[in-house]
Amino acid sequence: MPETTGASTRAVHAGERRPGPEGSLVYPIYQSTVFTPRPGDAYDDLRYLRLSTAPSQVYLHDKLAALEESPAAVATASGMAAITTTLHALLSTGDHLLAATGLYGGTHAFLTAHAARLGWTVSFVDPTRPDTWEAARTPRTRVFLLESVSNPLVRVARLPEAVSFARAHGITTVVDNTFASPVNLRPRTLGVDVVVHSATKYLNGHSDLVAGAVMGDEELVTRIRQTLNHYGGTLDAHAGFLLARGVKTLAVRVRAQNANALALARFLHDHPRVAEVHYPGLPDHPDHEVASRLMSGYGGMLSFRPTGGAAVAAAVVERTRLAYSAPSLGGVETLITRPVVTSHASMDPAERARLGITDDLIRVSCGIEDTEDLVADLEQALASADA
Ligand SMILES: *Cc1c(COP(=O)(O)O)cnc(C)c1O
Repeated sequence: MPETTGASTRAVHAGERRPGPEGSLVYPIYQSTVFTPRPGDAYDDLRYLRLSTAPSQVYLHDKLAALEESPAAVATASGMAAITTTLHALLSTGDHLLAATGLYGGTHAFLTAHAARLGWTVSFVDPTRPDTWEAARTPRTRVFLLESVSNPLVRVARLPEAVSFARAHGITTVVDNTFASPVNLRPRTLGVDVVVHSATKYLNGHSDLVAGAVMGDEELVTRIRQTLNHYGGTLDAHAGFLLARGVKTLAVRVRAQNANALALARFLHDHPRVAEVHYPGLPDHPDHEVASRLMSGYGGMLSFRPTGGAAVAAAVVERTRLAYSAPSLGGVETLITRPVVTSHASMDPAERARLGITDDLIRVSCGIEDTEDLVADLEQALASADA
């Protein structure tokens, strides 16, 4: 593949073998647990599925790396496996982790349940307030964990500031880029060390598998892959095949999702029965300027509060006919959910309130349906919910 290509070309062609095995256009699944060792193979180089070294796994890694304009990548069994394995590779007992407030619920739950047991200390800082970070840093701070775009208020982290802060203190930056997708934002190009994904979401895009990915330079990814070899959270070859297939349409899907989200956000913004809309593509979003600077699209995620409270919000979710009522995100079908009863149900209500996740908040993951149909669906849901 030529060096300079756009996101659409990368999604289709990056990592492809030309020609593929036996002249195949589509890279096959190698359904073999183990391969005959090559002379001099170290343990981590043996071709064995758990070690993520089988040919179709290596092919997928090349594809994933190119998406984030990164030298190396490794696929994992889930987004959580990507995050926990990365943290295990980078942190030792006694180390301190700086983490963004409002992290994905699973990540937050992992830290709450396991950090202290592992001897890690954690401080949470506002990813949009660089002036508050230094006060939370300790001499043992090793990692700064952020999400480029947060759930469900779609806040955009100050990544360039995070990179310079971390570099000044020898801290490794780890950015969960799931919500933005590499079509809209590529943290590695801003100097971020490690990018992680729940590939379950936009990268695969079809709501039919669970997978994760880690992207970074060769040295760090090798360390993370070796940690993955020990913990065993490898991605299965069949899921990897489906993921590589999904990735090929990533850019065209995400651009349609960006357009749908922007149109829905504008529609909701002007709707008399909507009190508040959160979407970084709207000029009144607190991160509109930052998003415009860092991102090439504002993403497919938005949230809003209808007037009339939680009961009306519940009715809106129930009355959409096109949008499925479900958590998760990033698939071709539009999903609608109330974070208070799904993604943030287990969060302490006081913490939820502090983050601005109110009981009447509705989150939408835009799919690739026709914009007018999605607008009409929400219009009828809002009209009947308030009746
Ligand atoms: C879904 C999600 C995860 C976890 O991914 P799984 O594939 O479900 O393990 C992590 N981070 C973010 C931002 C997510 O949306």
